[in-house]
Amino acid sequence: MRVVVPRESAAGECRVALVPESVGRLTAAGCEVVVERGAGAAAGFVDEAYVEAGATLAEAAALYDGASVVVRVAKPSAAEAALLGEGTVLIGFLAPLTDAEGLERLRTRGVVGFAMESVPRTTRAQSMDALSSQATVAGYKAVVVAADRVPKMFPLLMTAAGTVAPARVLVLGAGVAGLQAIATARRLGAVVSAFDVRPAVREQVESLGAAFLDLGVRGEETEGGYAKELTAEQQQQQQQALEARIPDFDIVITTALVPGRPAPRLIPASAVQRMRPGSCIVDLAAETGGNCELTQPGDEIVRDGVTIVGFTNLPSQMAFHASQLYSRNVLALLQHLAPEGELALDFEDEITAGACVTRTNEDAA
Ligand code: NAD
Repeated sequence: MRVVVPRESAAGECRVALVPESVGRLTAAGCEVVVERGAGAAAGFVDEAYVEAGATLAEAAALYDGASVVVRVAKPSAAEAALLGEGTVLIGFLAPLTDAEGLERLRTRGVVGFAMESVPRTTRAQSMDALSSQATVAGYKAVVVAADRVPKMFPLLMTAAGTVAPARVLVLGAGVAGLQAIATARRLGAVVSAFDVRPAVREQVESLGAAFLDLGVRGEETEGGYAKELTAEQQQQQQQALEARIPDFDIVITTALVPGRPAPRLIPASAVQRMRPGSCIVDLAAETGGNCELTQPGDEIVRDGVTIVGFTNLPSQMAFHASQLYSRNVLALLQHLAPEGELALDFEDEITAGACVTRTNEDAA
């Protein structure tokens, strides 16, 4: 089995799909791994480390020759997809819910696509759950970015010059990213509150030492543990309750998402206006429209003295650890698809079938 690791080409993407540690595991199991020169450089993994792990380096032109599996972080561009041969297995964030055109392109070429977003979030597939690993990185980085923007320190300090009050942080949405943001802000010494529409989350929030903010809104949970979209009336109630509470906070980290839907609008412009100058909002939902009305996806702006950060790829800004975790997820999926070192795709299997988003006619038969 020849596994190919291209250098990511999407703007601002610094991660790499396999790090040398995972490459070593694959080569030890008898797989051939071909890495594009410089693929890991932006994440801190040099070519020599890949060679030491048993990989072969290749230039872009010859990269895909004889590839059985291509592993990526971001979905391939149209030009990259055109280089994939029929029957090649492609693994990456393929955006199955939003990029119909990209999927059609892969289907037409007979590429067997596995989307990391579609790996079932079951206990058995936990080691392959890249949504969680990257959300963990994003939640951590969101707090670090916010800490850097506000003109305040996080912890309570008793100094000879008097007491410094701790920063107050609000986390909206306490899923994987939100819980990591809470833990990180607590470690830095902030006083943290959090809210989520799923009532089951209260206990997790409190176990991390944060207070659960009661906004009087209770949403419902799907069977998969995700939030259901609020009704228009509930949304309005949430916005009003937040508008009243938000001036108490120096930092707001928003992570609220409803799968396959635009991000719920939690913070109207009028609520931003009520925040103290110097405060900061980091909107992790920027890519799907943002939880704050004023968020500019991909950008950082200052409005009424409040910094609003809408970066769309925070894991890429922590590319070393984000790649290391992603790489372990990809390796676990590869080991699942090729338990003996050669691809043995079993579409009766829940993980293989769930993650597969395009397949050849032969596979589908
Ligand atoms: P997500 O990224 O889809 O959403 C983030 C959070 O936003 C969720 O907690 C959601 O309830 C919340 N939210 C949605 N609308 C909101 C609103 N209007 N106001 C406030 N909050 C709102 O979710 P996620 O972080 O990927 O995970 C969500 C669930 O999946 C959790 O229950 C988690 O434990 C579960 N999960 C299970 C596994 C597993 O079993 N292997 C793995 C990962 C996650």
